Amino acid sequence: MIELGDNTNRWGAPPSAVRAMRESADAMLSGYPEMYSRTLKEAIARYVGVDPDMIVIGNGSDDILDSSFRGLAEPGDRLAMLEPTFVMVPIFAQLHRLVVDRVPLGENYGLQVEALVANSPRIVYICSPNNPTGTVIPRASVEAVASRAPGVVLIDEAYFEFAGETAVPLVHDFPQLIVARTLSKAFGLAGLRVGYAIASPKMVRAIEAARGPYTVSAMSERAAAAAVDRDGAWVRENVAKSIASRDRLASKLRERGIEVPPSVTNFVFAPVANAGAIAKVMRERGVSVRPFAKIPQFCAALVASKGEALRITAGPDEEIDAALAAFDEARRVCG
Ligand code: PMP
Repeated sequence: MIELGDNTNRWGAPPSAVRAMRESADAMLSGYPEMYSRTLKEAIARYVGVDPDMIVIGNGSDDILDSSFRGLAEPGDRLAMLEPTFVMVPIFAQLHRLVVDRVPLGENYGLQVEALVANSPRIVYICSPNNPTGTVIPRASVEAVASRAPGVVLIDEAYFEFAGETAVPLVHDFPQLIVARTLSKAFGLAGLRVGYAIASPKMVRAIEAARGPYTVSAMSERAAAAAVDRDGAWVRENVAKSIASRDRLASKLRERGIEVPPSVTNFVFAPVANAGAIAKVMRERGVSVRPFAKIPQFCAALVASKGEALRITAGPDEEIDAALAAFDEARRVCG
């Protein structure tokens, strides 16, 4: 199966992380890891350019989101998010009994600032670049939300390395702002389960209190620190490959008449009708892509697709060519 459904790195894992993993097995199994991953915090702090006390480590950024919702809100509080956005957010929010307000993206995939803060949410979640649309939420809009929101603003930058734009500098001005990131995408380490967030030391302590110690394994910490310290060139090279592949895929889809919005990530969002059926046929042809339905119809392309779309991850040319062939075949079958 060619896996183009989960936005991981299709060119593999970075060499220093692989080496650290191989070397660490004997030494690291019998003891506990560091309680809150101090050594990895220091490596990530160097990478981001902030103080280590402003870093919280998680078992994937899923864990960061989950712990933040648990630690920073009470049951019955409201969480506001854009629609569509990262699918796990309403799931974690509902797990913690938060009331979810879904605000459709605006025309041109823009953010509706007033609508996001209208119900005085305890937490505003913004994914930028946004999954599944691949579009960026401009920093000025993020800043406008941060200055109006009454509570926590969580910016999910899982795809930061592909876009380059970040809200991290705003953390110094807005103590209620959290920026979450992951090593699962550009760093090619989804199996390691390491994510992190940048926030004020007070916010870091609150998230850690909700999360508890020892949640990241010793081997994951070590491999992650090795990658962050030493695999920068590998990451940059793979980001460049992803961007070239994404642009090639987007233009091939546009040649087929599909209105693909400009992506700043390692995937493309393709509004197409019958997305579920098309994805099923593609899977039978050996290519996995992610279908979406019931998306608010905030632009003409989504009106035409009846709120359905596919999300396809960038990858080596032969994988993308196989995906396009399977897509053409599926559209013939599904009409
Ligand atoms: N946020 C976004 C926007 C994502 O797309 C993903 C992965 N699909 C995650 C968070 C979770 O990443 P992980 O738990 O692997 O760090």
